[in-house]
Amino acid sequence: MSNQKLTSFNPPQRLLMGPGPSDIHPRVLAAMARPTVGHLDPAFQTMMEEIKAGLRYAFQTENALTFPVSAPGSAGMECCFVNLVEPGDTVIVIQHGAFGGRMKENVERAGGHAVLVAFEWGQPIELESVRAALETHASAKILAFVHAETSTGVSAPAKELCDLAQAHDCLTIVDCVTSLGGSELKVDEWGIDAAYSGTQKCLSCPPGISPVTFSERAADKIKQRQSSVQSWFLDLSLVMAYWDNSGGGARTYHHTAPVNAMYALHEGLVMLQEEGLEEAQMRHHAMHQKLKAGLESLGLGLIVDESHRLSQLNTVSIPDGIDEAAVRQYVLQKYDLEIGAGLGALAGKVWRIGLMGSSATERHVMTCLTALEDALKAQQYSVQDGAGTAAAMAVED
Ligand SMILES: *Cc1c(COP(=O)(O)O)cnc(C)c1O
Repeated sequence: MSNQKLTSFNPPQRLLMGPGPSDIHPRVLAAMARPTVGHLDPAFQTMMEEIKAGLRYAFQTENALTFPVSAPGSAGMECCFVNLVEPGDTVIVIQHGAFGGRMKENVERAGGHAVLVAFEWGQPIELESVRAALETHASAKILAFVHAETSTGVSAPAKELCDLAQAHDCLTIVDCVTSLGGSELKVDEWGIDAAYSGTQKCLSCPPGISPVTFSERAADKIKQRQSSVQSWFLDLSLVMAYWDNSGGGARTYHHTAPVNAMYALHEGLVMLQEEGLEEAQMRHHAMHQKLKAGLESLGLGLIVDESHRLSQLNTVSIPDGIDEAAVRQYVLQKYDLEIGAGLGALAGKVWRIGLMGSSATERHVMTCLTALEDALKAQQYSVQDGAGTAAAMAVED
């Protein structure tokens, strides 16, 4: 038994510019502090329907089966795979970073056979290799890929990949954790069958909720399953008794929704609607342009080619002789600024600078450039005073 005396936890006020979570708008934080009601309270049920509507807007879909999973992005990923993959199914998984590897794990744990189409980290997805895999594995039922690879900063050609999948009678599972709200994403127009996201990236809500959406084709495949879904918690046929009331029947208890976290998501979706989806995407891009100009003036390059580069996640190469961990520590201590380290194959080679949601602002860009200049100079890196911020300021709004 521990007698350790506990005191209130007061976190430092950081600027979050890593790979997520991103800064949370005060409106969203305030929404979280509103009184908790029951997860079946009529007022809460009305809000649940609004969340579903807001998510349909964010995903650009009419899918009836659109709702937030009560767990982080990884659970949304698992929800898509455990429901759609049946034992014996062949699934083609594109891996161009860390998260494709997790998709493969998910396929295999669901009893499926994963065929990996791998690309070097930071390099684009080549459609021809994907086409070849679809042709070689004609019995494949699903093509899975990550739209915005947060580990590399590479954007996938989602529309073209969905077209290829459809031409080969495959459903698509698309990881939209970092793309939702930050990149162009059109679930219905592109024909995405299952997409999952997270609240803590470009939606700027607290971590812990995973919006998902499933097309009618996906819903049909799930209905025709021979075996039951091995996860009780993520089995759509059970969880929808709580999230779906379209049949007119009463909602029933499945699990206790994280009520206050849902208030936060609701507020985040209100704010997305107020700003406008396209405007939000344009803001991410505009801030990326400023950051890029500033980084270049500091002599820092982005590893991803412009043609398939994400705005919301910038992978910055580390100059020779610079201790990258010391830079991250310096900016955290002196500027309360968090930037991300490289992951997997890019560990030690890049910083990952996120411009997601409420962290995609002029203030974040300028603070980041100032902090980096300072941190680099502390390591005897030679750069003209104020070069980064001056270059960012020179980029037109
Ligand atoms: C962050 C992230 C996830 C995982 O989300 P969690 O909320 O951390 O579980 C999955 N895929 C991508 C592309 C991500 O960036």
